[in-house]
Amino acid sequence: MDIGIFLDRDGVINEVLSNRVKFVNKPKDFYLLDGVGEAIKKFNGAGYKVFVVTNQGGIGLGYMKETGLHAVHEQMAKDLEGYGAYVDDVSYCPHKPHAGCACRKPEPKMIIDLAKKHRIDIKRSYMVGDREPDIVAGKQAGTKTVLVGNRREEANADYYFSDLLSFSNWLLPN
Ligand SMILES: [Mg+2]
Ligand SMILES: [Zn+2]
Repeated sequence: MDIGIFLDRDGVINEVLSNRVKFVNKPKDFYLLDGVGEAIKKFNGAGYKVFVVTNQGGIGLGYMKETGLHAVHEQMAKDLEGYGAYVDDVSYCPHKPHAGCACRKPEPKMIIDLAKKHRIDIKRSYMVGDREPDIVAGKQAGTKTVLVGNRREEANADYYFSDLLSFSNWLLPN
């Protein structure tokens, strides 16, 4: 069975609430964070499967249509391709926050379903996020958990790194 690297999207892969972006509802709002292309390329090259698990409540709230989200993910694939990197699969929750759906993180369903679909060994896998719901989702699914970014106090993760590239360099030295 393969090992999965489950990645939250906004704040891990791409900018959100930055100087030039508020929320990412269109391809033109999509900016890869520094080092993300290199990090995902390292995961790809080492044989890890890379997944995106993202809450997209903006769909349920009416800020974005599902076709718009797909366009954003096409942009993500194109930008990653520039680094020779790719994501194996994407799962998203389109429901409103507080709708009580089964998929929105901190629920673990998106991770568990991807793991079944791709025959992933959850215990040896990692969930990487920048917020507490990502970490709780990983714990509920049974992955190891990694918090990236500057919200170190926010969640009780197994590992902390400043960004995805630092995590990839720790996991895969040289
Ligand atoms: Mg996030
Ligand atoms: Zn949902």
